[in-house]
Amino acid sequence: MLEVWHGDITKLAVDAIVNAANSSLLGGSGVDGAIHRAAGKELVHECRLLGGCKTGQAKITKGYNLPAKWIIHTVGPVWNGGTNNEMVLLESCYRNSLEIAVQKQLTSIAFPAISTGIYRFPPELAAEIAVQTVLEFSVNLERIIFVTFDKTTEDIYGKKLEQVLVGKH
Ligand code: ADP
Repeated sequence: MLEVWHGDITKLAVDAIVNAANSSLLGGSGVDGAIHRAAGKELVHECRLLGGCKTGQAKITKGYNLPAKWIIHTVGPVWNGGTNNEMVLLESCYRNSLEIAVQKQLTSIAFPAISTGIYRFPPELAAEIAVQTVLEFSVNLERIIFVTFDKTTEDIYGKKLEQVLVGKH
């Protein structure tokens, strides 16, 4: 089941939440900062052992103090006008995160709107890529949640999901 949920991703008791991390995996601002704060200091210790993460790739850690059991860290592309492979890289973020979830036999996963904050990816296009990529995995996972943190993103995801679910895509 695909759903849109408005709120703070760190509050969700799902199998895994996805972090829109940076390539150091050592924490940052936005959703990354919120996840590190809520998970506690042990998270950064585990992240140090991972040796960073390339754009479009994903790596998993425990959830520590979060209600979520696992955190899948993925590094979204910085939007640079669309000529730097940004769309393919964003799709890879969703695909690689979902592949890890399937491999680990997780049943519920929550995504933030990767790259649409500080990395400036156009939100409509990001939502289109997110929804289309996730759709392919909807048979493997019971719940896939798009977490939106502001009203504009919520409206965009709501609309995209509706279009897809009534087969207008
Ligand atoms: P990026 O660097 O990939 O652009 P950001 O963290 O700046 O990542 O933003 C990605 C998205 O996450 C934005 O839509 C932002 O509003 C949202 N966001 C920020 N904090 C949270 C949170 N605690 N829970 C869910 N989404 C959040």
